[in-house]
Amino acid sequence: MGRADHLIISSDQAQPFNYAVGLHGSKFFQELKENRRIVGIKCPKCGKVYVPPRKVCGGCFCENTEFVEVGPQGTIGTYTIVRYAFIDPETGKQKPVPYGYGFIRFDGADTLFQHFVELSDARPIRIGARVAPVFAEEMKGTIRDILYFRVID
Ligand SMILES: [Zn+2]
Repeated sequence: MGRADHLIISSDQAQPFNYAVGLHGSKFFQELKENRRIVGIKCPKCGKVYVPPRKVCGGCFCENTEFVEVGPQGTIGTYTIVRYAFIDPETGKQKPVPYGYGFIRFDGADTLFQHFVELSDARPIRIGARVAPVFAEEMKGTIRDILYFRVID
């Protein structure tokens, strides 16, 4: 059996696309953009608060209808530090490493919300660390309106 040649194909194409974020996603991103507020939704039966909001409670299977403000501060439930360089699908360029990636429980929420966490020698990332979002100057109604979370304790 002969050795296969490895083919490398390069291209540079923009592939813009849009998708609907739904009623609950719309509420989340509108509140974020217009008021810099983090919104979750509360289950009417068990009281669990989901962030981002979702239509149905995973535990009770009942419809969530009550939007509630949470945070904006929260606590790191778990995290990782990414050290492996890769091509960022958002930019098409190599993502600078290392960077922190946290699972954050906003104050008043029961679920973990994933986002970037700033790495700082003075305030190291850790489970239980208190964090606050750092917002973009120009809010566009996307998840990138939160640039990253900063450890504050
Ligand atoms: Zn429930």
